[in-house]
Amino acid sequence: MPLVTSKEMLEAAHANHFAVGAFNANNMEQIQGIIDAANEEKSPVILQVSQGAINYAGLGYASAMVKIAAEESSVPVALHLDHGPSYEQNVICLRAGFTSLMFDGSKLPYEENIAITSKIVQMANTVGIPVEAELGRVLQSRDSVSEEEVKAAMTDPDQAADFVSRTGISSLAVAIGSVHAMEAAEAELDIERLKAIRAKVDIPLVLHGSSGVKESSEVEAIQYGISKINVATMLNQAFIHALIGAYESDPKNIDPRKWLVKSRDAVKEVVRGKMRLFGSSGTVSSSGFFSAPTSHRSADLGHLE
Ligand SMILES: [Zn+2]
Repeated sequence: MPLVTSKEMLEAAHANHFAVGAFNANNMEQIQGIIDAANEEKSPVILQVSQGAINYAGLGYASAMVKIAAEESSVPVALHLDHGPSYEQNVICLRAGFTSLMFDGSKLPYEENIAITSKIVQMANTVGIPVEAELGRVLQSRDSVSEEEVKAAMTDPDQAADFVSRTGISSLAVAIGSVHAMEAAEAELDIERLKAIRAKVDIPLVLHGSSGVKESSEVEAIQYGISKINVATMLNQAFIHALIGAYESDPKNIDPRKWLVKSRDAVKEVVRGKMRLFGSSGTVSSSGFFSAPTSHRSADLGHLE
């Protein structure tokens, strides 16, 4: 089916306590691994392209690969701009056919973040495209951040309420203890802060930096309003480890496809595991519409919000 926006799938996730995985892709094999898992799992999926991926593949290639992946799929697929750096980049991606945008003004002064985010929302909503923005800061692990720095950068619940009402965004990326590009899943999220944000903000919330978060903490966060979870580092790890393994088992091979197919399969299995964890598996019926989610996660928690 053609690309859809992220709005409907995130609202379904928000209403039914599951999360849609937003998987970063830089090349064809990663996209195919992600999309194959989505189809087999009957899960909606967001394929997201960062500025780095646009620099690597080129905007035309990146958007065209995701569009063909969607067209050949039987599940809803959204093409999302991850961490759009400016108003201009959001306009360029809208024109290139993106069906979901993000502006990351989290490093800017608060009022400036509001001003640019609002302008992008106004522009994108004119043609029905939803916009995600970030408040608080999800830091980068390469800056070797301390626990105090992560805490200081967390989203303030009152400010989140003000930000959402003044910008009109469709989803909000919150900083609740995760850090980008972590290679081991060790972080616990600040669930109390998430609950406080949820009490004041009623739009889908987004978790960045999930590769560094304990799975149990992710599942709990979904119950308290996280509806979109970004996954990147874990997919890159799977891709590279499979490539190295393939090389080591057949170092004389000169056909890249023989190694890359292993990477593609490895990405697919990581995505499959995440879709099951997030509860998005089985939420798309054969007609392409959302059906009741499978709730294998919630039984263990004993309580819902
Ligand atoms: Zn991010």
